[in-house]
Amino acid sequence: MPPILSITTRGLNARATIMIIRNLSGIFTGEGFVQREGRRVRDDDCSFVAGPIDIAIDDRGTISGVGRELASPGEVIDGAGMIALPGFIDPHTHAIFSGDRSTEYFMRWAGKTYLEISQAGGGIHSTVTATAGQTSEELEALLRLRLQNMLACGATVVEVKSGYAATAEDELRLLRCIKRVSEDRAMPELRPSFLGLHALPRGRIESEFVDEMIAALPEVTRHELATQVDSFPEKGFFTRESALRFSAAAKASGLPCKVHADELCDLGSSAAFIRAGALSIDHLQHINNEAVSLLATHPTVATMLPATSFFVGIPYANARRLLDAGARVALATDFNPGTAPAFDLQLTHMLAASQMKMTPAEILCASTYNAAAALGLEKTHGAIMPGRVGNILLYSSTGAAAGLTMLQQISISRAKPFAVVLLGSVSEQPRHG
Ligand SMILES: [Zn+2]
Repeated sequence: MPPILSITTRGLNARATIMIIRNLSGIFTGEGFVQREGRRVRDDDCSFVAGPIDIAIDDRGTISGVGRELASPGEVIDGAGMIALPGFIDPHTHAIFSGDRSTEYFMRWAGKTYLEISQAGGGIHSTVTATAGQTSEELEALLRLRLQNMLACGATVVEVKSGYAATAEDELRLLRCIKRVSEDRAMPELRPSFLGLHALPRGRIESEFVDEMIAALPEVTRHELATQVDSFPEKGFFTRESALRFSAAAKASGLPCKVHADELCDLGSSAAFIRAGALSIDHLQHINNEAVSLLATHPTVATMLPATSFFVGIPYANARRLLDAGARVALATDFNPGTAPAFDLQLTHMLAASQMKMTPAEILCASTYNAAAALGLEKTHGAIMPGRVGNILLYSSTGAAAGLTMLQQISISRAKPFAVVLLGSVSEQPRHG
């Protein structure tokens, strides 16, 4: 665990500057992404500002200034030799679970079918059983460990889904665990999703199960256990109609929705959920033309999860088709035990570049501003601009590399940030050789 340099915030004026990152070699502010609302972004939209330049953060953890030689009444961090990026945001993870399914990857790579893996005791249901067998304290400890690793890789905001439970009561237990962990200021900011429809437990009738999850919504909203809901309509899981019914009930309770859409076949989920006002539609290997045109004019974000394709061997979603149509495209790890076991956005970025042909600017936008939009945070997060939260990554600038070249390196080298500034607290990484 890297050391945390926490900063005292009590007893200061509400808008007093308490931290300055001084003399940075440069900043990718992402201001152009904001101006374009994350659509059709070009290299210039990374809005690189060459240093020496400073960032000031106030005692609420909000960026109060970006400029040269800012006054500094508080803590000063030496940014010399560093390039600043907006903190990454991972808008799709299944990070709370117990059990290990590494064997399934090797079975799959050895040619075993889903049915054979399932018969050998694998699949989502095995994670549900393992998770049910753990205490809440054990699950929280596992989640903390994963989040610490994600933070070290630059994920300053992480969406965490429930979903590995066989009853509404157990779903609520997972959401309460996520909430308790989210109160720890040393963790990334968490955006919990109530993934009520993930896998139908054996022996349950789908409509009754959906009713049970809908009945849990008042408890979720009363205790602010989730910021959105999610569902998994796919052949063999839930129907699109069940997912829409659950999402409509959530909307009536004040919770927006996300959805796992058209990953294994075209169920028409993408278009239906864009029309239903979903924050994001995720996966999209089989998205149809109608939905692609809708994405060009609707705020719904298209979230790509290339690590899943890498580990499972299914096709990559056609990100270029969506980007060129003017969709807002985000990237996420999909971290989960069964189909995407890597928690680092660095792998996702490398695959986005090499397999999905995304440019460094598109990748940066997809992990900052557009990822914020996928979680309803586009007005407050995702760029280094006054008034936005002070979640910032500091990368060591490497001699000749500056501006776009630096961003190209970051996209493909799997380099982790040297330090992560989280709402005005710094966690420093050990310096590499
Ligand atoms: Zn997922």
